[in-house]
This record gives sequence, structure tokens and C-alpha cells, in this order.
Amino acid sequence: MGLNIDELVDLTRWAKKTGADGIYFQPIEPIYASNQTLVQLKKTKLWVSNKQKALARKKIDELIKIKTKEGFIINDLDNLKKIKEYFELTQVKKTQKRKHCAIDLTTLFIDPLGKISFCPSYPKLNSLNKYKTQAILYSKNALKQRKIIRNCPKAGNCLSTCVSEKNLLQLIHLFLFLNK
Ligand code: SF4
Repeated sequence: MGLNIDELVDLTRWAKKTGADGIYFQPIEPIYASNQTLVQLKKTKLWVSNKQKALARKKIDELIKIKTKEGFIINDLDNLKKIKEYFELTQVKKTQKRKHCAIDLTTLFIDPLGKISFCPSYPKLNSLNKYKTQAILYSKNALKQRKIIRNCPKAGNCLSTCVSEKNLLQLIHLFLFLNK
């Protein structure tokens, strides 16, 4: 985001012009399957620097306006506001209630080599080239990971694309949005 804050609104306008159904914004996270930490990521130019914070706040507020008036942006409003918290542009609101993640019951990521994972933030499980899906999903390792995921510390504030926590109303909105 540090490199393209200025382009967020133009990108949205451009995507709309092309006839796309919508656009989803995903804040940058530490590189998947690497040892990079969030602290390290924050030191790169991909993060929002202190100098850029006012501009980033302004651009995300513009996205919120577009979302409110025109729809088109798939992130729900709460998710866009959380992006401001994520980049420390506003004070982080402490999650009121303890939340649990159930990504392992709804989503499955399969990488080009056939390796399965429940969530990009967690280690991959075995490969479909070697084992049947059921065997991977109910392996000892997978069951152990599911327990950890259930109590993931990010639950309630997760911004990962397509896995960000949604309540029932948000899911209905998303369904209607994608089927209009
Ligand atoms: S809360 Fe987010 S990061 Fe944590 S397991 Fe669920 S989807 Fe993954």
C-alpha cells in the first residue's frame, strides 16, 4: 500500500469502467510461507510510512464514500474501517467479544502443487497428489491445526481476502452483491 495509496480510488474507478462486478481490497500481509514477520514488513516501503498516513486515511475515506454511495467495492464498511486500524491510521478498537474462527469449515486453499491449507496464515497440510482430501482434512496434524485456528488471535480482526470474518447479514449482502 505504501507504493500505491494514490491509486486506490483511480483503480476502483478504472475497474468499474471495465465492467467488473466489483473490487476487493486486501491489505498487504507478511509473505505467505516465509519467515517474514509483521514487524519486518512494517519496515519495508510497502507499509504506510508516518508521512503517508494522512493521505492513506483520506484515500480509504474516499473508498468508504464510494462503497456507501455506489457499492461496487466488495469489502464491507467494517472491513474498510479495519484497514485503517491495521495500518495504524486510527486507534485500534479492542474487539469487544472474544471471537472464534471457523475458516476450516468453510474454505480450502489449494496451491499449484496440490498442497492444501485452511488459511494462508497457517502452514500447509499435505498434498492432494499423495493423499485423498478426506485423509488430509482429518489427519492428526489437520485436527490439531483446526483447534488452533478456532482460537486464532486474529479472529474478529482478520482482513484476509475472502476469509475475513463475516456475520450472517454481511454474508447475505455479499451473496446479493455477487448475484445482482
Ligand atoms: S482469523 Fe483469519 S488468520 Fe486466523 S485462522 Fe481465521 S482466517 Fe486465518
